[in-house]
Amino acid sequence: MSTGDRQPCPVCGEQIAAAARKCRFCGEVFDAPEIEQEAEGDSTGGVIPYKNVPALIGYYLGVFSIIPCFPIGLAALLLGILGLRKVKAQPEVRGTVHAWIGILVGGFFGLVWLAGTVLAILGALA
Ligand SMILES: [Zn+2]
Repeated sequence: MSTGDRQPCPVCGEQIAAAARKCRFCGEVFDAPEIEQEAEGDSTGGVIPYKNVPALIGYYLGVFSIIPCFPIGLAALLLGILGLRKVKAQPEVRGTVHAWIGILVGGFFGLVWLAGTVLAILGALA
């Protein structure tokens, strides 16, 4: 053995070949090296920014802000802004489009329903 690549056995601490699948001292069998699953490569990785939770929730709240209930839209606006800040800090989380949908749709309907609510209250008071 002249490979030189050695590492301590995680079980007994003896120096064994780094590529060994079984420790020759204690007999511990190691699993084959895990192949890291590239989350980015799956079918949803590029579409749903599941690592950017504020952007994702903001997007769904933006969609639901069509319901005449202004806090939903305003929450979408807020979460969209948080989502954008998250993308700026960690570009790998993605979600820019989702965040903007939350901001624009949620902001729009949030203000529409807020105005509608205010007008309804004013109308009721008049
Ligand atoms: Zn060992």
